[in-house]
Amino acid sequence: MAYRISADCEKCGSCEPECENQAISEGGETYVIDPERCTECIGNYKEPRCFEVCPVAAPERDPERKETKEQLLEKWRKLHPGKEPKLF
Ligand code: SF4
Repeated sequence: MAYRISADCEKCGSCEPECENQAISEGGETYVIDPERCTECIGNYKEPRCFEVCPVAAPERDPERKETKEQLLEKWRKLHPGKEPKLF
């Protein structure tokens, strides 16, 4: 399941540089996550990094984007060709 950023986002910008998939960008009212690039941090970190650094817990799972761990890992491999994912 990709993550999305809720309306609680205060646009502090802490999350953007933390995403190793470059999935986060500044949107209108909030920062936004590109679901085509979000792997729930599978391949990079044990836990979703944007959620860990957000002071208001704005990143949340997007129920509209149900994906298995295998699908998220496959997405990670396409984003990082030639690299090996970190597996936890
Ligand atoms: Fe990026 Fe991880 Fe947040 Fe997804 S969960 S947007 S991969 S930091």
